[in-house]
Amino acid sequence: MSSSKYVLILLGAVGVGKGTQAQRLAAELKIPQISTGDILRAEVQAGSELGLKAREIMNRGELVPDDIIVDMVRKRLLEPDAVRGAILDGFPRTVPQAQALDELLKELDLPPPRVISIEVPREAIVERLSSRRVCVACGAVFNLKSQPDAIERHKCPKGQAQIIQRDDDLAETVLQRLRVYEEKTAPLITYYHRGGNLRQISGVGTENEVFARILIGMDPDLS
Ligand code: AMP
Repeated sequence: MSSSKYVLILLGAVGVGKGTQAQRLAAELKIPQISTGDILRAEVQAGSELGLKAREIMNRGELVPDDIIVDMVRKRLLEPDAVRGAILDGFPRTVPQAQALDELLKELDLPPPRVISIEVPREAIVERLSSRRVCVACGAVFNLKSQPDAIERHKCPKGQAQIIQRDDDLAETVLQRLRVYEEKTAPLITYYHRGGNLRQISGVGTENEVFARILIGMDPDLS
């Protein structure tokens, strides 16, 4: 790819595979993945003031207030590795966050975002999330159905750390997170559609298939 600056937003409900795809894209484009969910989980683990506040909200499947999130993203985008841009995963999640991001990108001399929305039917999401497990140390994602071995041993093959189900992947919270997505985040599709920078792709299929669709969606910018 060219050395130009690039900001990519991956939109999509909980469980469509945004995190996995964002990691692959970050490696491909050599710009960092910025996941607001990961930053918040690190705060929760560290037991910081923000972490304590965020934990309750996250476990209810609700959204952390916009001003806290925008501040977090501003700090992260100011780090040197983000000078050429970033893959934004889980941010923005509300129209006010998207508006704040537009301002922030201008301020930081970064281009307007390209947006890929990954779309998966609701029933498939619930099914996927109930079988999702994560490594407590490295955040690697496992699936109860496709990787029963790692799950059975409760150990991550990378560092032998424990594999657990995230508190917010429990059935009730997942349904609440989907409701919040439909109410607060789905309106971003209209927001970015108007700006003309949106591509909608299917998130059904293997990880490689979805990755290929994302690359096609971004193609003009990668050549
Ligand atoms: P995720 O890993 O992206 O699904 O995020 C997990 C949880 O962190 C969400 O359910 C929210 O409670 C919180 N969170 C993550 N990103 C945001 C955001 N951009 N705005 C508000 N809350 C967020």
